[in-house]
Amino acid sequence: MPVRATKRGAERTPLSGDWDVLICGASFGGLAVARELAGSGARTLIVDRYEIGERATSACGIPTEWLHALGLQEAIQQTFFELVIHTPYGTTRWELPWSFSTFDYRRMCELLHQQGDADFETAKVHGRTGDVVHTDRGDVRAQLIVDALGWRRVLGRAENVQPPEARLSRGLEVHPHAGGEELEIWIDRSYVPAGYSWSFPADGEMRVGVGSFDPRHHVKEPTVRLAEDLRVDVVRFQGNWIPHKIRRATEDCVFFVGDSAGHCLPTTAEGIRTALYFGLACGRECRAVLEGRQSTRDALSRYASFSRAHAWKFGCLLKVQQIVPRVPPALLHRVLGLLGHRRLVAWAFGHYLAIAPPEFALASPPPTERRSLATAG
Ligand SMILES: Cc1cc2nc3c(=O)[nH]c(=O)nc-3n(C[C@H](O)[C@H](O)[C@H](O)COP(=O)(O)OP(=O)(O)OC[C@H]3O[C@@H](n4cnc5c(N)ncnc54)[C@H](O)[C@@H]3O)c2cc1C
Repeated sequence: MPVRATKRGAERTPLSGDWDVLICGASFGGLAVARELAGSGARTLIVDRYEIGERATSACGIPTEWLHALGLQEAIQQTFFELVIHTPYGTTRWELPWSFSTFDYRRMCELLHQQGDADFETAKVHGRTGDVVHTDRGDVRAQLIVDALGWRRVLGRAENVQPPEARLSRGLEVHPHAGGEELEIWIDRSYVPAGYSWSFPADGEMRVGVGSFDPRHHVKEPTVRLAEDLRVDVVRFQGNWIPHKIRRATEDCVFFVGDSAGHCLPTTAEGIRTALYFGLACGRECRAVLEGRQSTRDALSRYASFSRAHAWKFGCLLKVQQIVPRVPPALLHRVLGLLGHRRLVAWAFGHYLAIAPPEFALASPPPTERRSLATAG
């Protein structure tokens, strides 16, 4: 278990006040929003129930270019140019047109946080009344409010639909100390009827897990079995629900970013780069408000449209997610082999990356430049 660094007892002082921006959630989505506000002069507060980087929320695999585009390459642990896919009928290797990297969660969050200039406090967010957010340390008011709290969508207006009825997948993994060279996935119904299993090496640690698209299907037993099959220790569990349906990206005065808006891609359950992508987009809209270039209302409307414009791509991937478990395994194995043709992989992965392309991160000047511009001004 990670050491709990969150403030306790007397250190847990009351929290209150008015802020320009309140970002709830200090993981990928929330920290990306804050990064875009660096040097704006805004009073920005980020809150999370844990310290920054304290609790990894994923296997931490991402297209490498995203880490470079954000200047986070220092957090990279291992890089892969090939995807190894196992089915009960054999193994297929896809040569990727772009590489995939695993990274260190704590380091990545620290680096991303350093790119912003927001204040940070540990607090558990309970809910909201208008522009007042209720936390276990008190109420905080802000002109701009961001919910980057994950699938629970804590600041949403309506009662949240809970699993297993909600459109959620479930994922669980173990993090044993072990080495590996390959990025591997298993599409094998003996582990999970609808979903896939994975093994991501990360510099002396393996992230071995199972994801089920059907929230009713429990994944602990297959996760343990996969780890045992791979002869790694069944230690350090990490799991969560994963949204596989995009949701409204704004409600009242709140911006929803990442898993809280269902910004995790169906089929692959890749939600880090999309949380970063929509976080940057949200941060840019908020910045325009703070600089007097648009109203809060316009920012909410523009961000909602931006998110909505991606909905059909999420919808297509959801269809794929629903179809794959119905294809007979032998046929699926053959199809995966045929799709493995270099040009086809390049085409498919090119389109896949374009859903949230790394170039998007380059559209704003690097944070250091923004900060020095602000100081000079
Ligand atoms: C087992 C597993 C493996 C995964 N592997 C990958 C992968 O390799 N690559 C990939 O792209 N995606 C992966 N995903 C999906 C990915 O983790 C999520 O899509 C991504 O983390 C979403 O980022 P986020 O910033 O929206 O939310 P999160 O990363 O979930 O962050 C939410 C933050 O809010 C905080 N929080 C939550 N509730 C409260 C509260 N009430 N008060 C205060 N703070 C709160 C949390 O502490 C956390 O810091 C995986 C998911 C799982 C479950």
